[in-house]
Amino acid sequence: MTTRLHWTLPLVLLVCASTTLAAATSQPSAEDVTFSPAEYLAHVRFLASDALAGRQPGTPGIEAAAAYIAAQFECFGLEPGGTDGTWFQEFTVTRGKQLVEAEAELEVDGLPTVPRVGVDWIPLPFSAMDSASGPVAFAGYGIKADEFGWNDYAEFDATGKILLILRFEPRADDDEADFGGARPSRFSEFRSKAATAARRGAKALLIVDPPGHARSSGNLFRFSDELSRQTFDIPVAHVSAALAEAILEKAGAEPLATLVERLEKEGKPLTRDLGLDVSLRPGVRPLTVATRNVIARLPAAHDTTETIVVGAHYDHLGNVPRQFERTSDAAFIHNGADDNASGTAAVLELARALARERDLRRNIVFVAFSAEEMGLHGSKHFVRQGGEEIAHVKAMINFDMVGRVGQERFTIFGIPSAPEFEPIVKAAADRVGLTYRAPRALSGNSDHAPFLYREIPYLFPFTGMHRQYHRPEDDTELIDAEGAARLLTMFHAIIRDLADLRDGPTFQRSTEKPSDEDTPPPPAFEQQQQQQQDNGQARAGGPPRDDTDPDVGQPQMPRVRLGIVPDYATDGEPGVVIQAVTEGGPAKAAGLKDEDRIVKIGDQPIKDIYGYMAALKNMRPGQTVPVTVVREGKELTIEVKLGEGSGGRSRE
Ligand SMILES: [Zn+2]
Repeated sequence: MTTRLHWTLPLVLLVCASTTLAAATSQPSAEDVTFSPAEYLAHVRFLASDALAGRQPGTPGIEAAAAYIAAQFECFGLEPGGTDGTWFQEFTVTRGKQLVEAEAELEVDGLPTVPRVGVDWIPLPFSAMDSASGPVAFAGYGIKADEFGWNDYAEFDATGKILLILRFEPRADDDEADFGGARPSRFSEFRSKAATAARRGAKALLIVDPPGHARSSGNLFRFSDELSRQTFDIPVAHVSAALAEAILEKAGAEPLATLVERLEKEGKPLTRDLGLDVSLRPGVRPLTVATRNVIARLPAAHDTTETIVVGAHYDHLGNVPRQFERTSDAAFIHNGADDNASGTAAVLELARALARERDLRRNIVFVAFSAEEMGLHGSKHFVRQGGEEIAHVKAMINFDMVGRVGQERFTIFGIPSAPEFEPIVKAAADRVGLTYRAPRALSGNSDHAPFLYREIPYLFPFTGMHRQYHRPEDDTELIDAEGAARLLTMFHAIIRDLADLRDGPTFQRSTEKPSDEDTPPPPAFEQQQQQQQDNGQARAGGPPRDDTDPDVGQPQMPRVRLGIVPDYATDGEPGVVIQAVTEGGPAKAAGLKDEDRIVKIGDQPIKDIYGYMAALKNMRPGQTVPVTVVREGKELTIEVKLGEGSGGRSRE
């Protein structure tokens, strides 16, 4: 990797030299500034090259991209806008969890050999990170489903114990049955089993596949980075049949096959202590990586705090398994030419052209955001770090996927966020002959979101969803550079107009409900939900994942509404931070505030967004629940009367 990246530096210098020539031929005072499709495409080609390996935060590829962007800004004659006079603003993100095998340990009293991680057992990626030890007990399927007359916990005190349980659920005679039928019920999910065990006071779970079960692959579960964003309340390990049999044998219990058969035939719990001690150290740690926004400043002609922010995320998914149509765990470089080398190249070319304007009334800040794909981390960090200065940001222009103008599904989001936008945008579009759709709802699914939540007017051009979205096939050949050049001429005019405005744009709320309230879009299921709700808005159309194990338990839409936009990105701390409280919603009425960290709903502790979703799922509209939040370091509990949500049971 390192050796392949050596050629990036000479390239950066070369591009810098060529821009001097381009600058000489352009006319800064001309009404329409034209852009070179070739120059635009050169940025895309570099950023989306295999050498950069998909620009995933925490990898050398994205660092090469950051260096390239900074070098370009410098070439254009802009000022560094990062920390301490640099081009960069560094921050850390937690990219799920990692398994450190050397730290993973499972010990069972009296077994002749120590079970080996990865062979005899593996922590689930959702496992809590703490260690646990205590007496082990067999607890059937670990299911308490009173409505179906099944309770493995009946009359058994699980407090302080480590439970060995079966994966999946007992089989019903009827394939159509709601419990035990062909379609797994929610009781078979890992999440449900872990939550039940934790509520019963159990310290950890060891899960084993029932021998010969149709849904068992016979292999240990895969510890995957993607699945590791969710964290259960207790440590959970998947153990091999051989290890489970060894434990049962040592305890003098019946073998697995007999236990499974008896459970299904007798239909009553066989839960019992096994008289052995187990200690489990999952060896799971947060995977925290450092990454950087790249920031440049173009100062106004006269000293002012008023600023226009022009941004695009430059990160993408990296060299990872396919998100869709996955048939193997093989990694593919996801070059992300449209998502979002196209937007990054747009910011670079606009920066180059605007750098020649020395008589603007307002400052322009150009930002290449990192870690958007992991949850808008870069833009959130930028807004949080901005402090007071963010109040002087007059407008934010966010370029995310602008490389397919030729598809003629060009959409500009955010026009209703200020009344001044429409005439400015329309005039600029007319001049270059581009037509666009202008949705009325404001939505927050890209880097403009943290600005929107601070009531900063925004524009978000987007040239449409396509079949290559978040796939390795999103590559440079499919970029419409001629179209992008026209779009740049249009936005150059818009940004220049906004930078010269005396007042405004003035933020106004849309009467349309934002589409992402209460329903977090973690990457794994973002597309599914957006597809159903957004009605053709940005990011709609991505097909659902088809590789999800049925017992992983995808969160479902709650039936109730709290009226907040949760920050679904994890910062490593337990709880869910409120990104924005919705005007007129239940949370607002109750007095919840932006940046409050929800740590408990009712008596359910909230560890992360998955726990938040699960807690709401069990609530009824009209019900009043105590919501415990941490605000400025202090815990307080607020009663909230829940509203009616949009979710149903359609997505189980
Ligand atoms: Zn994107």
